Amino acid sequence: MKIVTVIGNRPQFVKAAAVSRLLRERHDEVLVHTGQHHDDELSAIFFEELAIPRPARQLHIAGGTNTEQTARMLAELGPLLDEEAPDVVLVYGDTNSTLAGGLAAAQRNVPVVHVEAGMRSFDRTMPEELNRVLTDHLSELLLVPSATAEANLARESVAGRVANVGDVMVDVSMMFQPRARADLKPLREAGVEPGEYILCTSHRAGNVDVPERLRRLVDLLLALDEPVVLPLHPRTGARLDAAGWLDELAAAPHVRLTPPLGYMAFTSLLTNARRMLTDSGGVQKEAYFASVPCVTLRDTTEWVETVDVGWNVLVDLDADRALQELRREPPTAHPELYGDGRAGERVVAAIDALAPVAA
Ligand code: UDP
Repeated sequence: MKIVTVIGNRPQFVKAAAVSRLLRERHDEVLVHTGQHHDDELSAIFFEELAIPRPARQLHIAGGTNTEQTARMLAELGPLLDEEAPDVVLVYGDTNSTLAGGLAAAQRNVPVVHVEAGMRSFDRTMPEELNRVLTDHLSELLLVPSATAEANLARESVAGRVANVGDVMVDVSMMFQPRARADLKPLREAGVEPGEYILCTSHRAGNVDVPERLRRLVDLLLALDEPVVLPLHPRTGARLDAAGWLDELAAAPHVRLTPPLGYMAFTSLLTNARRMLTDSGGVQKEAYFASVPCVTLRDTTEWVETVDVGWNVLVDLDADRALQELRREPPTAHPELYGDGRAGERVVAAIDALAPVAA
């Protein structure tokens, strides 16, 4: 079959790393990069480090509001799909690229396969939540990472077929975490010792786009009493700079600011951290896979299982709670939550099974 895969930003590159290579053993894949993340630090380095095939079609659609960006993607993806005439369109996760790829395909009656379907935070103010819900309802094959996601979709009576394949990010973590953990160079560069620092990422619109909330994040970071490594997402860097708070953070001796890191350097810092502090979706899970307790700077999460088992806790931007939770010891039990690291194989098998319908 001919499959057009639409990806566009950092977490999607990571997810595609578990699938693209396997998919190409049996199908003809045309990788389309929308350009949503385009700087080398957020894009090129992931293709290189994770050995993702080079995109065959590179669009240049970044910036603007979510509405504008999605509209521009639709305008370019429509003709692209007419030209490529794929049997299936494959999308990942919950970004504007996910929704645009899915909608452009569905409007042409091309079956949509959604990997990481069924995730819900139940917070409709998150742009990601709208992208997830809408993409799920236009997909023909919904590949979910967990039983929770399966139950979410059953409740919403989605039209497509649902299959629990496990989480493709587990595959990638299993492939790369052991090597990354053994490489301490990123720790030396950040000036920290294994097990003696916190790694923090924050870039959710709800935390960094609202000045008063961004200030709470800054105050929380300043209140920490141990080293914290903070690889700055460009959105966060820009908001801190605009508010005049970047210098204040940079001046704090325990705060180590870095540019956004490549997957290997980031994973080295994550696997060796004492605790993870984040508002990222993917990083909450990666911390769990690495057995690093996570404190999440949100009041909802899609990855509820990590909270249920006691390895992750939601504190929003409450500094007192964050400080307290960062001291809490994790439970001893560490069950397998999102599959066995062979989700990529199951994604390909599920797509194979579409062949007679799509051909
Ligand atoms: N990541 C990275 N370098 C960084 C921060 C994150 O390689 O400086 C990786 C991280 O390991 C994970 C992915 O980027 O695989 C998560 O992306 P992000 O937090 O941007 O997206 P979300 O998961 O919140 O959608």
